[in-house]
Formats: sequence, structure tokens, C-alpha cells
Amino acid sequence: MSTVPSPLLGKVAVVTGASKGIGASIAKHLAAAGASVVVNYASSRAGADQVVSAILSVGGRAVAVQADVAKQADIERLFAETKAAFGQLDILVNNAGIYDGEPLGQITEESFHRHFNLNVLGLILTTQEALKSFGPEGGSIVNISSIVSTLSPATTAVYNATKAAVDNLTRTFAKELGARKIRVNAVNPGPIETEGTHSAGMVGPFQAFAAITPLGRIGQPDDIAPAVVFFASPASGWITGETLYVTGGLR
Ligand code: NAP
Repeated sequence: MSTVPSPLLGKVAVVTGASKGIGASIAKHLAAAGASVVVNYASSRAGADQVVSAILSVGGRAVAVQADVAKQADIERLFAETKAAFGQLDILVNNAGIYDGEPLGQITEESFHRHFNLNVLGLILTTQEALKSFGPEGGSIVNISSIVSTLSPATTAVYNATKAAVDNLTRTFAKELGARKIRVNAVNPGPIETEGTHSAGMVGPFQAFAAITPLGRIGQPDDIAPAVVFFASPASGWITGETLYVTGGLR
């Protein structure tokens, strides 16, 4: 008889932006590893409910919580509802993020602030609020960064800069939070086929990356989630402040 490993049994995780794409896969993988999961979303209630149903249908525990994680009041409510549902917090996955491509000449104040308000300020405010809920045993924070933080592809300068900031925040917060036994790591995906990249018209252009990727294809959300489970679990207990590229070898 085979047994399914449950390294996260008894743990509680919040995944921001989990109604679709990479976040939805992360929520399902964390639940499969035993965690109770808060599936956060901004507007896609139906998507979040589908993720929760998928988790419940295989005996897992999950709830959906709406919150715009670029807004302080929503973030406070997200963690209050997490506490009400599951009573504790052990894992935070800062996944919610946006990516619009503009060449230099088309960058606007509005698009700069929209990207930085969610991808950087939202991550900071969410992490700050989560600190009030982590217990004395500490926990794990996983930031979803991107290969663009160092590959720096043309026409996505603002997005690239937000993810370079995420890498730096990951290293800094790891130093600040080590004394509380809270580890902070980043997973940096390569090009991934998601609802978001489909609606942005990016999946076609991604094929150019597939051609120069050693493993010969672009990624799927399920390629990313296991790395997040690793950083959330005791198996990575001596790792903090790291960025793990999950890109099929593309650098
Ligand atoms: P996606 O398919 O567009 O999904 C985005 C998710 O974030 C949705 O659940 C969305 O919820 C949520 N969200 C958006 N704004 C939010 C807000 N203000 N508050 C709370 N949730 C919000 O995106 P994805 O492609 O999976 O990307 C997820 C993360 O991976 C991002 O941080 C992205 O930068 C990073 N990443 C993606 C790729 C890629 O190629 N896809 C590569 C590297 C890194 P609603 O649907 O409710 O709005």
C-alpha cells in the first residue's frame, strides 16, 4: 500500500491570487501536501470557488477570501478571515501579480503605479500583516518572482523592475525575519501558460522562448507549484533568502 506524503499536515497557508493560473495550482498542491488553504482572489469569485471545490472534493480543507492585496484594509480582512477559518498561519505565498508590456516610450505614471502598487507594495503590506499571525514556531513565506528579474526582456521594463524588487525584498526580509524562524524564499518562473498570459496575448510570443529553453517548451502552472511546496515544507528548513529559477533551464 502506498502512502501519500503530507509534509504540511496541520499547517495553514494563504495564497494570494489563487483563483487561476499559477496561484490556483499552488493552492491545490499545498492542500494535497496537507495544508488548509485560503484561496485569495480579487474579482474572480467563480474561479476561486472552483479551486476550493477541487480541494474539498479530494478531502482537503480550503476557503475562498476576496481581498485586493494592493489595499491595506482588504489585506487586514484577509488575515482576519484566515484566523476565523483556520485559527493560525504558517505559510504565506505572495503570488498575486500583474504584467503589462510597454516599450519605454509608452510607460505611463498610471501603469508604473499599478504594477508597483500590487507587485511590490502589495507584497510588502501583505507580508507585514501576515507577521501578526505567524506563531512562535515561525513559518515560510514564498514570493512568486520571475525570470524577468534578471533576464530583463525588452518591452516589460516596469514589470521586470517590480520582480527585481521582489528578489531584493526576499533577501532583505529573510534577514529581518530569521530570528522569528520565518524563512523567506522566492520562486522565479520562466514563461508559463496561464489565463493571464493567454488574455495578454503572450502565449504565442512565448514560443520564441521555448525554442531557446533547454527543456524545449514553455511551462505550465503545475511545473511551478512543487517548488513552492518545497519552500513551504520542513525539507527546506535550512534555506532562506534564496531565489529558485524554475524555467526549464532558460536564464
Ligand atoms: P493570472 O493567470 O493573471 O492570475 C492572476 C491571479 O492574481 C488571479 O487569481 C487574480 O485574481 C489575482 N490578482 C490580480 N490582482 C489581484 C489583486 N489586486 N489582489 C488579489 N489578487 C489579485 O497570473 P499568472 O500568470 O498565474 O501569474 C501569477 C504570478 O506569477 C504573478 O506574480 C506573475 O508575475 C508571476 N509570473 C508569471 C509568469 C507567467 O508566465 N505566467 C512568469 C513568471 C512569473 P482575479 O482573477 O480575481 O483578479
